[in-house]
Amino acid sequence: MTQSSEWISIEQKYYAQTVRRQPVVIVRGEGTQVWDADGKQYLDFVAGWAVNQLGHSHPVITEAIAEQAGTLIQTSNQFYTVPQLRLAEILIENSCMDLVFFGNSGAEAVEGAMKLARRYGKLNRDGAYEIITALNSFHGRTQATVAATGQPHYQENFTPLLPGFVHVDFNDVEAIMNATTDRTAAVMVEPVQGEAGVIIPDDDYLQRVREWCDSQGILLILDEVQTGMGRLGSLFGYQEYGVEPDVMSLAKGLGYGVPIGAFLSKAHCQALVPGDHGSTFGGNALTTAAAFAGTQYLIENDIPGHAKEMEGALLGSLNDLKSRHSFISEVRGKGLLAAMDFDSDISGQVLANANEAGILLNAPRPHTVRFMPPLTVTKAEIDEAAERLDTALSKI
Ligand SMILES: *Cc1c(COP(=O)(O)O)cnc(C)c1O
Repeated sequence: MTQSSEWISIEQKYYAQTVRRQPVVIVRGEGTQVWDADGKQYLDFVAGWAVNQLGHSHPVITEAIAEQAGTLIQTSNQFYTVPQLRLAEILIENSCMDLVFFGNSGAEAVEGAMKLARRYGKLNRDGAYEIITALNSFHGRTQATVAATGQPHYQENFTPLLPGFVHVDFNDVEAIMNATTDRTAAVMVEPVQGEAGVIIPDDDYLQRVREWCDSQGILLILDEVQTGMGRLGSLFGYQEYGVEPDVMSLAKGLGYGVPIGAFLSKAHCQALVPGDHGSTFGGNALTTAAAFAGTQYLIENDIPGHAKEMEGALLGSLNDLKSRHSFISEVRGKGLLAAMDFDSDISGQVLANANEAGILLNAPRPHTVRFMPPLTVTKAEIDEAAERLDTALSKI
């Protein structure tokens, strides 16, 4: 038995079997590379599910964590801590938002945003509580975020669902207009649908949704858990589309690997008052120290700009592969979030071949694989990844 296969059998014995894993036991990472328990090297184009914006073991992050761990980790939010306030300041000063609240995950960030919307509806829209979300969206795995998520296969085993959600087609403003009633408090969409397979809306979609929300006095919530923190080539996805949301959720890339989420809002709709919301761990000193250090580095070194530059290299290589493998039906992407569609449900086989060839990928759909490397990925690494992927695809 290899080291990896021993760990895999321990997982099967002891770990709740709720996740479909790839048979790769990762023990170490550096930049875009990771190594498994048997010493094999891979290029990591999963990056912790679009989380490790600065790659693995970036010295800025490891030093911030080590220093904070030796100073202060957790105090509860009964008290003030400095890293939390530094992170709050840098996020607000670099976004269109006025206020932030920190939680521990994307789902929790979205939950907070939705609680804010309901409170806003009570105060300003005569008790309106409904949130319009998009079909094929993904907003998380808690009961409320599963209800918000517009995908029946995440919902049907967990009914009855929390009421108050209306699902409409993505990239269809008229559908939002038709679904809006006196009960509507907010519209919540992702700037680009990530988990659906990197679905990119028309350039003017978010602007038109923004105009509609303004005309109706309802909130626009952008779920930027996946698109935020430079992923699309700007610090926040909304900047790519020339709109400002009222509320925005962040997580994934916000922590550079540590678990943290946040919802940010404009002052005019911050309807929550002391006692309405809270979290034991949310915004604790350790996670916010890492998130602050990473965000400061990200901004000072214009890492989102680098992501935008690398978009061409990534999409160029994927399109080259498309011209060489006839079963690739489409390539699309924005910044360093990209996807490749196949003309049949072969993404499982592609992932297995890719593992073998030394590149880690993700398959959000049976016919789609997704690419979300660290934002620090180099042109040389993209070229190498494309070669490895070519090997993997040649064995299909
Ligand atoms: C991943 C994701 C979530 C859920 O985040 P978790 O940290 O897994 O709870 C919510 N919304 C979007 C858009 C996501 O991509």
